[in-house]
This record gives sequence, C-alpha cells and structure tokens, in this order.
Amino acid sequence: MFDAIFLDRDGTISHDPYGYINNLSDYHFFDYTFKALRLLHRYTDKFFIVTNQSGISTGKIDINNLENIHSFISNEFEKRKLPLKNIYFSDNYDEDYFSMRKPGIGMFQKASKEFNLELENCLMIGDSIVDMQVGDRLKMKTIFLLTGMGNDYIDDVRSSCDVNLVSNNLLEAAKDIKLILQ
Ligand SMILES: [Mg+2]
Repeated sequence: MFDAIFLDRDGTISHDPYGYINNLSDYHFFDYTFKALRLLHRYTDKFFIVTNQSGISTGKIDINNLENIHSFISNEFEKRKLPLKNIYFSDNYDEDYFSMRKPGIGMFQKASKEFNLELENCLMIGDSIVDMQVGDRLKMKTIFLLTGMGNDYIDDVRSSCDVNLVSNNLLEAAKDIKLILQ
C-alpha cells in the first residue's frame, strides 16, 4: 500500500489538447481514467492531484474557471467513491527547490503536512519530466506515462530520471503497478 498516489492532471488523467485548459467544456478525462483509478485504489486510500497551472499568472487561465474544473473533477471522483483528498495547483513560474511549481517540492510538502504522509511511501504518476524530477527529489516511486507530453519527454526522462516504470497510459500503469511493489 502507498500512503498516497499523486496524480498529475493534464496528460495523465485527462487530455491535454492545448498545453493549458481554461474552460470546463475543454476538460475531458481519458475514457479509461476511472477504470484505472479503481484499480489504483486497491493500492492506496488517498489520491491527490498536483498540477502546474502557471497560465493563471499570465492570464491564460481564469482562477474561477480553474475552480470550476476542479469542482467538476472532485465531483466525478466522489460519485465513484474514489478518495481524492485534495487538488493542489501552482499558479506561477517559480523554479526554486521548495516552490509550489513542480519540480519544486512545495505541493507535496503541503500534502505531507496536511495528511501526515511519508512521501517516500508515495507514488507519483505523470507525463512530464517535472513529475519525475520531483518524484526523484522526494524518493517517491514514479510511473511515467506516454500520454500527454510523454512522448516528447521520454528520452530526457530515461537519461536523467530514476523512473520505476514507463507505461503507455494510466490504465496500463494501474495494471502493471505490481511490478514496482516488490
Ligand atoms: Mg501533465
């Protein structure tokens, strides 16, 4: 069991068509997302979403729209009794080690404090190199997905990160998770 599973948002649980999403009508889960999450729920009783949304600081994303999208996501998890404990987002381009923006560790530290998590006993799943970098920094287990931006980052991820598993998508990751448990 993991203390928690941290999920990136865009390109991981949902499509990432433009690099950012400013409207609920543009927000779409992958068709397998909830099937995958039900499988992953066997391995944790806490999910968190950790998402870089720097478009807020540039005006590309409206904070009210972001909140609408996050309410929608929370509802969809709740309907299915999936324990999404919180959605953390960063709204800027800060790049220091402790910043909220991944690969800064801020969002994870916050979750760790608020929910008493041992981060070394958590899993991070994402489609960007920053998801894997922050996983390495915190000695989390990591799964890299080839959805979203995954294909663009795979070479850099393989050469510079200590990834536990590379999967084609979240559903495959959920099925293969056994491989990283021993
Ligand atoms: Mg992503």
